[in-house]
This record gives sequence, C-alpha cells and structure tokens, in this order.
Amino acid sequence: MLPMRDEHVTTLSAMESDSLALAVDVGGTKMAACLVQSDGRLIGSQTIPTADGSAEDVWQPLATLVREIAARADRPLLGVGVGTAGPLDLAGGTVSPVNIAGWREFPLARRLAEVLPGVPVRMAGDGICAAVGEHWRGAAREVDDVIVLVVSTGVGGGIIQRGRLVTGRTGNAGHIGHTVVDLGGDPCPCGGRGCVEALASGPSMVSYAVRNGWVGSSAVELADAARAGDKVANQAFERAGHAVAAGIISASALCDLTAAVIGGGVSHAADLLFPPLKRALEEHGKLGFLRDIEISTAALGSSAGLVGAGALVFEPERYPSAARLVHV
Ligand SMILES: [Zn+2]
Repeated sequence: MLPMRDEHVTTLSAMESDSLALAVDVGGTKMAACLVQSDGRLIGSQTIPTADGSAEDVWQPLATLVREIAARADRPLLGVGVGTAGPLDLAGGTVSPVNIAGWREFPLARRLAEVLPGVPVRMAGDGICAAVGEHWRGAAREVDDVIVLVVSTGVGGGIIQRGRLVTGRTGNAGHIGHTVVDLGGDPCPCGGRGCVEALASGPSMVSYAVRNGWVGSSAVELADAARAGDKVANQAFERAGHAVAAGIISASALCDLTAAVIGGGVSHAADLLFPPLKRALEEHGKLGFLRDIEISTAALGSSAGLVGAGALVFEPERYPSAARLVHV
C-alpha cells in the first residue's frame, strides 16, 4: 500500500512545511507567479500578459515579476517550480512554446536560477503541472492511479500511477491530447491526424461545427448553441466526448487507471461533454479492469498549474521533474 495523501503530508520535514515555493506558470497569452505554501495555498498570485518581441522582451517582465514575488516571501524559498507551455527540452531546461515566437530553445530554467541564486528550479510542462496540482491538492488527491486531462485550446494532461507522476524518458509522458483515437481522422495541430486534440479541443470543435454549417466562432458560443438545441453543435460535443472517452480508455488499458479528472475551459460544458463521454466509456470499457472508471471535474480551475508547480518543489519524489538547476 502506498501512503495515503495526508500521511504523506506529515512526512514533510519541519523545514519544508515552514518553507515556501515560488511558482511560475508560462503561457502563450499570459504568465503568472505566486508563492505557494506546503498545504498548496497560493499567496499573492499575479498575472501579466505575455510580451511580444525578442527573447529578452518576453523574459524581462517575467524576471521583474519573479523578483517582486520573491521579495514578499517571509520564509525561506525551498525552490522555484515552473509549469510552461511546450514544447520543452526538459533535460536542457529550455523551452520553445509554440505561441511564444520569441522563445526558441530559451534557457528558462537557467535564467530563473540566475534571478534567485541558490534556489533550485524545477520545471515541467503545463499539462503535467495541472495534473500534479489536481493530484496534490485537488480533485485527484485520494487517487493513486489517475489521468488528469486539460481540455481547452489544446488537450494536455498527465498520469499518476501508483501515486507517482509518470514522466517518461523526456518528461512528456501522459500527453493524452496526441493519442490517436480516429484513424485517418481530422488533421491535428501536431501534424498528425485523429488525435484526441483534433476532435475535442475548443478550436477543433468549433472548426467541425463551422464546416457543417454552424455559424459562430467560439467554444462558449458553441456550448450555448448546443444547450439551445442546435443539432450540429450537439454533434460537436458528442464527437468530443467520444474522443475524450477513447483517450481515457486507451490510457487506462495501458496504465491500469481507476479514474479520470477533466479540467480546462471545455470542462465548463460538462453538462454537454460528460453524457456522451460516459456512454462511450461504457461502450469501449468492457474488460473488467476498464469498467467503472470514475470521471470527475477538476477542482482547482486555472490555479491547478501554479499549485502543481509548487508541488514539484515540495514533493520531488512523488512528482519528479527532469529539469533541476541551481545557480550558485
Ligand atoms: Zn496531435
């Protein structure tokens, strides 16, 4: 038996439980930073728009924000945890986020370590951080074998197996958005076809509906239309729910999972997404160990990534991060 959640928390040393982590969340449109307590509570979260321009143009506002947040710490900083849009090279600590043109192989982990000398930096992808956050202090906290999906502009996620984050060789394991659920299906932003993301992300649902005669431009409008009885809008959610279910069943067949937690913007349309998703789970999950996979919505909302970034610092054994860097 693995230790239960609360037993594990009490194993944090007095020094760790008295310390703070500094969490950073890097996205294509905004960046956020805050302090995190060992109980997962966020202190003084601040968000800035992601700057355009050169690598330094993007970096300087984030460096200023991180210095400001660090200056507010009234206890020792145990480390910096970073969740970032990808792709990343976790071994080298560099990031090349698709939506941040100025950062190509930008040495984010090293630059952060230079801002806070002596403080270790741990980094992971944003989907992984959201999954870790939900497992550490959110909807998946009592579950040892679970996949957390973030269904939003893209589809990301992470897998916890036997109570421990599965990172894989490069730190990208658990990328449920690019598991293939429709052979020869729609093109995916990754360059492939038929991925979960190609059917279930907000933009892919809107694109499918527009191709089939629906008039509108956002996933929120699409949800409103579906609730008002629009047939094509409902088909878009039906397809998305089926694709997410196929991804969950595939991941569960490989990793012997018992539960899935769904977060991200599309989870606000759980009333539309969950009924087809649950029907498809029953349709595909016939083997004994694939029956009764529990589905729930995420608990931490948009804070999950920051909470998870804090967890990388407080619980590196449970949530290992490929990038670990200290500037001395
Ligand atoms: Zn893909």
